[in-house]
Amino acid sequence: MSNKSTPPNRRRRQLLQAGAAGAAVSLLPGCSPHKAAATVPQSPVAYAAGGPMPWINWAGNQTCTPRQRLAPSSEAEVVDALKRSTGVVRAVGAGHSFSAVVPTNDTLISMDLLEGVVQHDASLHQADIWAGTRLSALGPMLEGLGQALPNQPDLNYLSLGGAVANAAHATGREFGNIPSYCVGLTLATPSGELLACSATQNPEVFQAARTSVGALGLITRLRMQNQAAFKLVETNRVEKTEEVLEDIEQRLARHRHFEMMPLLHSPLAVTIATDLAGPADLNVGEDDPQAVNTLRSVYEAVGWLPGLGELAYEKLLQAAVGGAASSVRVGASYEIFPHVRVVRFREMEYTVPADAGPACLREILRTVRERNLPVCFPLEFRYCKGDDIWLSMFEGLGEKGGCAISVHQFGDIDYRPYFAEIEPIFWKYAGRPHWGKIHTLDAPRLAALYPRHWRDFHEVRRALDPQGRMMNAHLRTIFGA
Ligand SMILES: Cc1cc2nc3c(=O)[nH]c(=O)nc-3n(C[C@H](O)[C@H](O)[C@H](O)COP(=O)(O)OP(=O)(O)OC[C@H]3O[C@@H](n4cnc5c(N)ncnc54)[C@H](O)[C@@H]3O)c2cc1C
Repeated sequence: MSNKSTPPNRRRRQLLQAGAAGAAVSLLPGCSPHKAAATVPQSPVAYAAGGPMPWINWAGNQTCTPRQRLAPSSEAEVVDALKRSTGVVRAVGAGHSFSAVVPTNDTLISMDLLEGVVQHDASLHQADIWAGTRLSALGPMLEGLGQALPNQPDLNYLSLGGAVANAAHATGREFGNIPSYCVGLTLATPSGELLACSATQNPEVFQAARTSVGALGLITRLRMQNQAAFKLVETNRVEKTEEVLEDIEQRLARHRHFEMMPLLHSPLAVTIATDLAGPADLNVGEDDPQAVNTLRSVYEAVGWLPGLGELAYEKLLQAAVGGAASSVRVGASYEIFPHVRVVRFREMEYTVPADAGPACLREILRTVRERNLPVCFPLEFRYCKGDDIWLSMFEGLGEKGGCAISVHQFGDIDYRPYFAEIEPIFWKYAGRPHWGKIHTLDAPRLAALYPRHWRDFHEVRRALDPQGRMMNAHLRTIFGA
């Protein structure tokens, strides 16, 4: 293909990959820290045609072979599915959790067919939405009603029910996580009863169900507090991590949403500042979903060599992320919040109290550098408002809220040695793990992180599910049931 018809990001990628390969040959031919470790299969199960259909999550690290798979398309069918099913019952939304919250070899209930807006209230900007609705479909639907979710995670493949179950969040100090915008919901209990819940109707079940890891039954619909539809402008830059941390309070105050993706073994970070768009805002450059692969090529060529490759790595890194990171994106909120994720990875994320965020991040960066850990997937550093939802990672964190820090590893590399080095750092800062991401905590340790409402949650859970029908092996570990 000629340069004329090749998009600029792809052209830069090709050049950098060639440049990085050249650098690798000149430094240490054939060497890469990941070559020996890159043996983890992308998919954990081989499917034999005609055999039972395995279920696999997006990340490819969780699988099961359910005896029974159901996909109800109405509330009556959800109730029927719960009454008819045997053994452990689990709901699945979009399968975008990294932790083992979904797998069961008994009954798996997909919420996919419960999709769309049930009804809306234009004056209150509220909408009742079926729980299986993907955020990608929800944006345009709400826009048609003049509404929008106030904030969204950086991925829109999630289902609304799955996002609420795990307290999914985005970034922005003034904005809560997804369940904090849920003002009512209908829960189909394990015994097959439909319970309407809100702050005034079954309030305790409401507080437990707004982050339940799917342990209370199946949410069929949610009433969301939206706002009038709006447009956003997102500005990406390459900056020095330390300079951003020094200025973090101002950044959080200045921008509607702010996040940073620090680059390991380097002083650099990609920052993403997002604000309400004005009429003069225009798109500049383009988002490059492959940027992280380019980064990997560069790192594998030169970045991991202690001392020797540092300078070359930083220079190549500037070039690798520089173009994509000086981009500006403008559009409807539901188009700008999410990003395309085409590179498979595994993730661990903890939320620490907001004030502890910079110190925790610095310690992670220092640990990676000092131990020369062979990793290059950028970190993610985000803020979210505190709330009062019993098992939300942001519960009780007040106005300053929490700082969510994520570490990632490519899907074809064993994440365990890296995550094992980093996880104890989060514990030092009173971190709470994201329910949908990888962590190693069990019930006693989690209970200590939720001193106010752990017991309240489990009272509600035991009352709704005395036989533990919703408990798979992972939920038994994290809830001690
Ligand atoms: C590429 C990628 C990017 C991500 N980005 C973010 C991010 O920016 N912010 C963030 O917070 N998280 C993020 N996550 C994690 C993800 O948002 C959460 O794990 C979320 O819960 C996944 O939603 P899902 O629809 O895929 O749910 P699933 O993974 O299918 O299910 C999650 C849990 O919800 C339960 N559940 C699903 N539907 C229902 C229902 N209707 N009623 C009751 N329980 C139900 C399931 O049983 C399970 O326990 C990301 C994940 C990936 C893979």
